[in-house]
Amino acid sequence: MIDFTYTNPFPTIFRLLIFGCAFFVLSFDGYSQARPSLGGSSRLMSNAMTEMERGDFEKANTYFRQIVENNLPIPPEMPYFFAETLFELGQFDNSSVFLEKYLEINGHQGDNFESAIILQAKLKPPLEAIASCRFCNPSGYRYAACPTCDGKRQLEQDCSFCRGKGLVGCNKCMGRGLTTKKNIFNIVEYHECDKCSGDGRLGCPRCDGFLKEFSDCRTCQGQGRLLSEEICNHQAEPRNMSQKFERLKQVAGH
Ligand SMILES: [Zn+2]
Ligand SMILES: [Zn+2]
Ligand SMILES: [Zn+2]
Ligand SMILES: [Zn+2]
Repeated sequence: MIDFTYTNPFPTIFRLLIFGCAFFVLSFDGYSQARPSLGGSSRLMSNAMTEMERGDFEKANTYFRQIVENNLPIPPEMPYFFAETLFELGQFDNSSVFLEKYLEINGHQGDNFESAIILQAKLKPPLEAIASCRFCNPSGYRYAACPTCDGKRQLEQDCSFCRGKGLVGCNKCMGRGLTTKKNIFNIVEYHECDKCSGDGRLGCPRCDGFLKEFSDCRTCQGQGRLLSEEICNHQAEPRNMSQKFERLKQVAGH
């Protein structure tokens, strides 16, 4: 027979303990939302590693990015794995940034020191190709011709001085066409403005009535090109994709 009088106090203590733990977990959760915890980043890190093993580097990338973007504590081996992922995605410049960070933090002590050195060597040729390519920016993203000016940098646009009207207000009479002068009897006399011959307006001194001016394309700020999201293959692009398409159609006999 079980002696209840003896065992009874324990469940109460357990219940208190369990309640205490639950309270602790809840408050810890509240804390971790306000302030990132290492728990959050190690979970994201293991998710990322799983995706790497599956070969889904795009997904791994999103997990790694969450660690960085949410300012979570960075697990010591994370920069190496992130660098591997970025390498696989062709983001060589980014990859090298994280790899250098990894080597800087861990030195020879890192678990992946040797793999990091191998990755460093693998990064060299693509980084050199980016540096010597004129079609991409230092991060390896391809420049695209600006669609607004078609790469010409400048556009014929409405004169910015007269806003394409060809006339500007006369600055001598402030556009009134009249100037005032006090005579010897201290009476105000009105005179036709001699600068604008009483019109109050003058021909635009910038465009000289042409209404247009050549100025930097606003879309590309006069660069003639915009950065695309395409990773560069360091080869010239076909000049015009629609031209290429037209030619294909002709070949197909349409
Ligand atoms: Zn005037
Ligand atoms: Zn003008
Ligand atoms: Zn442009
Ligand atoms: Zn390139």
